[in-house]
Amino acid sequence: MNSAPISRLSWVLAGVGVALSACVALSGSSSFSNFAYLAATVQIVVFLAISAKFNKPDRLLWPALFVIATASTIAQILDNNLDTASLQAVPESLFLVVQITLAGGLLLIIRRRIGNDPLSVLGDGLIVALGSWFLIWVIFLQPTFDASTSSVVVTGIQGATLAFSSVVLFSLATLLFGDADRTPAVWLIAGAITFTLLGDFLYAANDSGRVELDEQFINAAYVLCLFLCSAAFVHQSISTITEHGSVRTQRPLLGRLIVTTAALTIPVVVLALTEAADSVDRTVRAVSVFVLTIAVTARVIHAVRTNASMQRTLIHSAQTDALTGLPNRSLMLSHVQNALEFAEQDQRHPTVLFIDVDRFKNINDSLGHQAGDNVLVAVAQRLRNALPQRCIVGRISGDEFVILDPGTRGASDAMIVADTILNSFNEPLSLRQGDVFVSTSIGVATFQKGISATADDLLRHADTAMYRAKDAGRNCVAIFDESMLERVTQRLSVETALYRALERRELRLVHQPIVDVELGDVVGFEALMRWTRDDGSIISPAEFIPIAEETGTIVPIGAWALLEALTHLRGWINEGICSREATMSVNVSPRQLHDPNFVPVVHEALLRSHIAPEQLWLEVTEGVMIAQPDQALETLTKLCAIGVRIAIDDFGTGYSSLSLLQKFPIQRLKIDRSFVHGVADDLGARSLVRTIIAMGDSLGLDMVAEGVESVRQLQALAELRCAKAQGYLISHPVPPESIGSTVASLTQFGEWSKLRGRNPR
Ligand code: C2E
Ligand code: MG
Ligand code: MG
Repeated sequence: MNSAPISRLSWVLAGVGVALSACVALSGSSSFSNFAYLAATVQIVVFLAISAKFNKPDRLLWPALFVIATASTIAQILDNNLDTASLQAVPESLFLVVQITLAGGLLLIIRRRIGNDPLSVLGDGLIVALGSWFLIWVIFLQPTFDASTSSVVVTGIQGATLAFSSVVLFSLATLLFGDADRTPAVWLIAGAITFTLLGDFLYAANDSGRVELDEQFINAAYVLCLFLCSAAFVHQSISTITEHGSVRTQRPLLGRLIVTTAALTIPVVVLALTEAADSVDRTVRAVSVFVLTIAVTARVIHAVRTNASMQRTLIHSAQTDALTGLPNRSLMLSHVQNALEFAEQDQRHPTVLFIDVDRFKNINDSLGHQAGDNVLVAVAQRLRNALPQRCIVGRISGDEFVILDPGTRGASDAMIVADTILNSFNEPLSLRQGDVFVSTSIGVATFQKGISATADDLLRHADTAMYRAKDAGRNCVAIFDESMLERVTQRLSVETALYRALERRELRLVHQPIVDVELGDVVGFEALMRWTRDDGSIISPAEFIPIAEETGTIVPIGAWALLEALTHLRGWINEGICSREATMSVNVSPRQLHDPNFVPVVHEALLRSHIAPEQLWLEVTEGVMIAQPDQALETLTKLCAIGVRIAIDDFGTGYSSLSLLQKFPIQRLKIDRSFVHGVADDLGARSLVRTIIAMGDSLGLDMVAEGVESVRQLQALAELRCAKAQGYLISHPVPPESIGSTVASLTQFGEWSKLRGRNPR
């Protein structure tokens, strides 16, 4: 049987308990009342057995339950049947045993469930216990002692039982005040305890002669208690009653406040309104209220302290980077601000160093984010160890660290700090995943009146200089100077204008012919972009393509260039300017390859221009095979599948390996002009070009030499059997309307032989 139906039974039991105890209270029949009590005792035995089978509550509960059930049943029977006053101490002692066991059992449960901030929960419980003790004394105990006709022993035991009620109340309060989730079993047990205490109090009130109560009212409370007890045990949540379990997000602060305030104020009001009966009563009242006051004071002190430490924790976590424990951006800014305030008095020029971990994205992509986090922690550690005590290290975002050296007197001091940092990364970082080498790019900005004068300026300028260090090839230092600001401003204006360039028709293509080295035929063209801004200035692609790449504008611009270039080629073929097999080379940026729409865009451009896929060469650089190679490989493979051909541009300047060349679907290498430049005179360059050509041949690749500027270079390339060439010697890139004349002049009889330095036949 699963435990859900049993849990449902628990609500039935609670309902039966409420109905039966109401009947007992209203019936006025003592025999019905005794029968109901007996029934309640029998049912609890049955349901405890059922609970033991299906809910398997903590084994520790059983001895306590056994003691409570046995002692209270025997006590009840004896209490009802014993007439001899001398034996009255026996049931009263048993009631005391029940009370002590109940308190002990509850304390055990609480010990396991108390959760966070136990001191405040126990403190509040103590206040409730002391307040209730005061009331128990004034309302029940003192009158009982006064009016008791029983022996001193019996009165003493009754007093102790009542006094223990405050311990039970303490346990109940702490059980409900903690942050552990209050399950139905907890509520039902709390209800059972409340009604047993109510029964005890009614009994005591009756006994003290303060009120005249029929016994069935007292019995009604006990009957309900017993039913609630079985209901709690039958509910499946009883099996976790001794576990802390899930934490409530909202702690019962308002309920706690109301209960503890009542426990404090009611005794004070009672104290003010009632007179002590005798000197013992006065002493007990005075001592109780005194202890209560001490408990409240201690609780207030604890609350104030907890609050203060919580505030400290909050401020600390708001200003600290959780991963590395270093100050974050806001704290670094205030450190820099402080340093600047003292700078002028001390004749110092505080320096801010902006550090970026080179190629951190690669580490994250290739080794995973956990390794990335470990690298950041190790970098933080390395920086702290490498730098003098006076330097403050902070992490302001991702892989960006900032160092403040408040003690520098100028740029040379700052350079020493920067060098220390660079050198500290000569050794690899030891991570769980293995050793990892990292390098850093560092931007330095030193306090300068009127230029880098505020904390914000210093941080921003160091950041700008860091980008310069990145541009300069990484793993180096750049010191901020004002010209960098102009560059940043210019870059920003280029960026803004570039967004509009396409729709304002400011972009156009020029074309550079690619020729067959042996025959001199124009076999194809490379399309190169030009941007004429509205003020007439022409911006080089070397300047705007990286910005377009960074901002993503390259995607629409690149798509436009593709269609435009193929449309030009279609026109020239139709006009007979070039052969029907002539090809068009279009440069493609990595960002385009990562655009999921790129393949359809290429496909559509081919369809619209009626150019065969084999006539389109897409030029990519070696970089695409290294950063995010999987995505690039997927796109290039799809392009190859439709027949488009791929060339590696500027070959030799990147870091591609032979294995990558084999893995990627490549059909052409374009030898970078830096090698072609020396091919005629420099033996080293010549043998390099020879090796590249031999390698390309063995892989079955088409070879194109870029940047051919002299006849001697062309001759050398011909000797080395390089198949194709392009360069200023053959033709500068020309506008599409001039292609006709350019091709005509190149194919003129004898022109090619002249270019190659041979006498025309
Ligand atoms: P690239 O693809 O390697 O293009 C060759 C560059 O070398 C062109 O510069 C061309 O004008 C220049 N060049 C050609 N022959 C010679 C020569 O004999 N000597 C010298 N010194 N230079 C020569 P350009 O047009 O400034 O383009 C620079 C780079 O910008 C291109 O290098 C290419 O990477 C990129 N680029 C140009 N157009 C586009 C485009 O439409 N899309 C993309 N993604 N990149 C483009
Ligand atoms: Mg190119
Ligand atoms: Mg190139």
